[in-house]
Formats: sequence, structure tokens, C-alpha cells
Amino acid sequence: MKIAIIGGGISGLATAFYILQEKPEASITLFEKSDSLGGKMKTKEVGGFFFEEGSNGFLSNKPDTLELVKLSGCDDVLLRSDDNARIRYIYKDALHRLPESPKAFLFSPLLTFRGKLRVACEFFVKPKTDESDETLQSFGYRRVGREMTDAFLDAMVAGIFASKPDAISVNAAFPAVVRLERKYGGLFKGMIAKKKKEAGPGGVLMSFEKGVSTFIERLAKSMNIQIKKNLHVKKIEKNGEKYILHVNNEKKEFDTVILSTPAYESANMLREIDSELAKQLDDIEYSPISVVGLGYDTFSHDLNGFGLLSTTSAKKDILGVLWDSSIFKDRAPSGKKSLRVMIGGQRNPELALKSEEELIKIAKEGIKETMGVTDAPTVAYVKRYERGIPNYRVGHNAKMQVLFDKLSEHKGLYLSSNAYFGVGLNDCVGNAKKVALELIKEIA
Ligand SMILES: Cc1cc2nc3c(=O)[nH]c(=O)nc-3n(C[C@H](O)[C@H](O)[C@H](O)COP(=O)(O)OP(=O)(O)OC[C@H]3O[C@@H](n4cnc5c(N)ncnc54)[C@H](O)[C@@H]3O)c2cc1C
Repeated sequence: MKIAIIGGGISGLATAFYILQEKPEASITLFEKSDSLGGKMKTKEVGGFFFEEGSNGFLSNKPDTLELVKLSGCDDVLLRSDDNARIRYIYKDALHRLPESPKAFLFSPLLTFRGKLRVACEFFVKPKTDESDETLQSFGYRRVGREMTDAFLDAMVAGIFASKPDAISVNAAFPAVVRLERKYGGLFKGMIAKKKKEAGPGGVLMSFEKGVSTFIERLAKSMNIQIKKNLHVKKIEKNGEKYILHVNNEKKEFDTVILSTPAYESANMLREIDSELAKQLDDIEYSPISVVGLGYDTFSHDLNGFGLLSTTSAKKDILGVLWDSSIFKDRAPSGKKSLRVMIGGQRNPELALKSEEELIKIAKEGIKETMGVTDAPTVAYVKRYERGIPNYRVGHNAKMQVLFDKLSEHKGLYLSSNAYFGVGLNDCVGNAKKVALELIKEIA
């Protein structure tokens, strides 16, 4: 049984790992089009600073990534975020600390008294009676009111998905929150019943020494698979039960193929086999986003916390600023500081693909406007994604049901990436494990 995995991001690597857990003798070849593994999980070192191109890490409140870290023997490079990284800010009309307790919420200037009262009334809001999908905005307006939605939910969805409350499905993007309403009748009722804040981010942010690439490299080395870098799979054909991969003018035959690539890449590879399936994959939208990493020898702000997210109403050109060297101390050389600024998303898609110089300028302006700091960085690093993070639109879950029904017509073909059932690292790893177990069951 020859297995091909296309895509060397966390989804592809984790899928390979879990197949080998069950079947150590499996013959797996992993194709990666770029010269390094990791996909959106990559760290770049510039002048002693470590900048993440994408993912900052993962939350410990879900077991998936932690389990993979332990099973692959990478616990020794695991890094817990600084305790002060729990302090977060929202920039609305000014920089406000995100309230961490009911008392702090009561005194927070982020919402008016009326807005806070509306949030308290959530306890009495009747649950939605049908299971139809809706936007995060519609969910938020129904349950906690406009003010809370336009401040907190708006900033949060920009930070996690680079999206907007009116552009994303609450069912697909925040299933745990929807479950609270369905199961307990409301968010407060659910939180009280569960006695823990399942609806909030929760958990501790975890990463790895010198960045996420450390883990990716170790994970890849822990497996007995063939890794082929710099190989772009252009097309997949079928020959009876076998799949033929077109790679650099060569054809390679496999019994089973797992596509761990972005949906639009998978669509291109599968178009000849199944144009309908390709169309459904093409239909999954992605948000553009750019990351500007800045390193400073001196910085006139204590950076005590995780960073800030801006609201749409603030009308700033930046989505947020992560105070990297405060979250994980080893991201900057001793005595120096580093930040990463997020630009673009569904809020300002046109800004994400500006030139590197323009993006650095926007980032510096954003830092000045939100944090009041004008210090000049000594190093800068820019990563631009035309299609960075999948944006699950309303109806996403129903579409996935149709898409995976169609996929089941092709025995031996699997999809495992962040395009379908969650974009967080925990989601990617959890989904990879499911795909691996399904595959093992089918070939048994
Ligand atoms: C800016 C940003 C910040 C983020 N922050 C966080 C965070 O803090 N926490 C969190 O949990 N998640 C975060 N995420 C999300 C998370 O990083 C991603 O969802 C996850 O890394 C996606 O992994 P993947 O393997 O599914 O896809 P990818 O990482 O996109 O990997 C796909 C791989 O396939 C390769 N490939 C594509 N086409 C082909 C082909 N035809 N042939 C061969 N190879 C191919 C690509 O080169 C790539 O390596 C962030 C994402 C971004 C963009």
C-alpha cells in the first residue's frame, strides 16, 4: 500500500504521524512544493529575532496538539507563554484592557452602561429554536447585543480568523459557543452549568523554543517517511483504483492520496478527476493577511501583555499588534523587544497585499496610533498571504457535508487541512488524526 501525502504543513505531517502510529510499516511519501516544511507554521530568524510567519502557537485547553507533541517526543522544546500574556487590550477609541473578571467588566469603559446591561440580559434571551446557520454578528446581536458584538466579537474574530462578524459562520467557526446555546439555552447558563468558560479562549498559549519551526522539524524527523521538498504536484489522474500524481514532468503511482493543501490547490489537482468536487473546493474562501515583524533595540513601552486587537469602529489600518517578545521571551535577544503587526483580513483586504515598504509603514503608523510609540525598529520582516486563512462563510458546514459526500465517491482519496473543520492548530491536528484513523479502517 503506497500512500502519498501532498502538503507539508501541520495537517500533512500530523496525518502521516497518526497513520504510522497505527501502521508503522506504512509506506508514505510526502510532497511539499516549497523548500521547507511547515506551511503556515514557520519561523524566520532575522538578526537574532524570531518572527512567526503565521501561527503563534496553540492553546492547551484542547488535547490535540499537546498529544502530538508528547507522542513525537518533542515535550523538551515545548514553551509556555508568559503569565502576563493573559493581559490583552482592545483598541476602540483608545487602548482598553480586556476585562478579566465580572467586576472589571462592570467598570470597563469599553461598553456603555446600557451595553453592559444588555450583556447581562443574555441570561434571559430565549435560545434559537431552529438549527439554521447564521453569522457571528447575527448570533452576537441576538445574544449579547450590538455593543458587545461590535467591540469584543469584532476584535476577536479579526484576531483568530482575520474576518468580520458579518462575514463568518458562527456554527463553523465557533461551534463550542453554539453548543452552549443549544445545550443549555444560553451562554451564561452554559458557563454556569459547565462551571468553566468553554466559550472563551481559555487554556494557556503554548509554543516551542525559538518558534514553531523547531517543532515542525523535530516532528518530521521523528517519522519514517520519505519527504520530497521542492516538488509541486500539479495534477492527479486516476488509473483504475490507482492515483497518478503529476510531479515535475514525472508520473508517480499511489494507492492512497491525502491532500493536505489549501482547498484551491486541491481543486486544481483534482479538476480532471472530478470537476464538481473541484468546484466545491474552489468555493471555499480565503482571507488575505500580512504579518509585519519588527525588532527593536529600545522600545518606549513596557509591552506588559499579549498585545492588542483593534475594532472595525476604530478605523485603523491594522488588525492588531502581538507583543511577541513579551509572550515568549526568547523571541528577541536579551534586552531587545519584538512585535508582529497583522494587516488586511476581511476588514481591509486591499491592504494585505501592499508592497513590503508600504506594509512596514502601515505597521509603524498603526503602532504610533494605537500605542503612541514612534521608536524606529532595527529589523523588519514581512510575510504576505494572498490567501492566508480560510473564511468559513454562512452555510459552510452544510457545504462540507455535500463536499465530503462527493469525496467518498473516490476510494482512497482524502482531504486533511484547515479548509474544512477548523483553522487552529488543535483543529488541524484533531482532524488529521480522524483522517488517519478513517484511512486505517478502510485499508484494514
Ligand atoms: C498569519 C496567521 C496567523 C495564525 N495564527 C495562528 C495561531 O496563533 N494559532 C493557531 O492555532 N493557528 C493560527 N493560524 C492558523 C494555522 O497556522 C493554520 O490553520 C495551519 O498552520 C494550517 O495548516 P495546514 O497544514 O492545514 O495548511 P498549510 O500550512 O497551508 O500547509 C499546506 C502545505 O501544502 C503545500 N502545498 C500547497 N500546494 C501544494 C502542491 N500542489 N504540491 C505540494 N505541496 C503543496 C504548501 O506549500 C504548504 O506547505 C494562523 C494562520 C495565519 C496565516
